[in-house]
Amino acid sequence: MPAISRPEQAPSASPATLPIRKHKFPTPKLRVHLDDISHEGSSVFLSNIKGNEDLETQVQNVLNLLYTPDSVRPGTRSVTFVLRQYPGLAYTTGTDLDDDHKEIHINLAYLTRVKEPRHEILGVICHELVHCFQWNAEGTCNGGLIEGIADWVRLNAGLSATHWKQEAEGEWDGGYQHTGYFLEFLEQRFGKGTVRKINDGLREGKYDEKKLFSGCCGGKEVEELWKEYGHELKNKAERAAEAGEKPTATEVGKTIPTDTPPKHEDAQ
Ligand SMILES: [Zn+2]
Repeated sequence: MPAISRPEQAPSASPATLPIRKHKFPTPKLRVHLDDISHEGSSVFLSNIKGNEDLETQVQNVLNLLYTPDSVRPGTRSVTFVLRQYPGLAYTTGTDLDDDHKEIHINLAYLTRVKEPRHEILGVICHELVHCFQWNAEGTCNGGLIEGIADWVRLNAGLSATHWKQEAEGEWDGGYQHTGYFLEFLEQRFGKGTVRKINDGLREGKYDEKKLFSGCCGGKEVEELWKEYGHELKNKAERAAEAGEKPTATEVGKTIPTDTPPKHEDAQ
């Protein structure tokens, strides 16, 4: 299996080492539906993504970061990449007939606009694949946490986007990398496997925020942890300023959603 590509200017907040175990999980059937082969976006996708290696690699990254070989996993049996033109970027949905068959829709026009196509497309694929395999508290999970877990996996797969910034403005569940970096803070604070436990805590029953976070994060409430995270970022910025470094850690980053909400019920 080839190494995944690394960004040349990886954000400093990325984990120093990638904690991806190398267990080989069963891979679902991976299919592609190319709506318009003559579209420039089709060429961008096909010339940057090696179908027989990259997709499988990202599936294994997602499964290794969210599960151990003994974990109970969703019964996803196939993932179809649907490359077509629509207003949006990418989203994941179950098929109408059977939710074990997922579809990842990617907008062909968006593919023509990406600056570092291979890195960005792999990142989007990684994020969307998380939605194919994560638990969601029977559909009741906080959407910000769902999106945060997806970008936490993307971050740990070495595929963070160059515009991502770590920041603690607003609420903990703002979603995407905003929540993803917070989850990485929890992973470092409470130990490797913390986010895996959070995902497993979404396996059965309805979303219970208090129970979920206190069970995975030393009995604490998520709001308390978010404040701790804010203090940590502030301290980090002050240390960086003292050292004469540019305080990038507290720059307010723009959260750019990866997904367009699907028309029907499935996770975004
Ligand atoms: Zn998403």
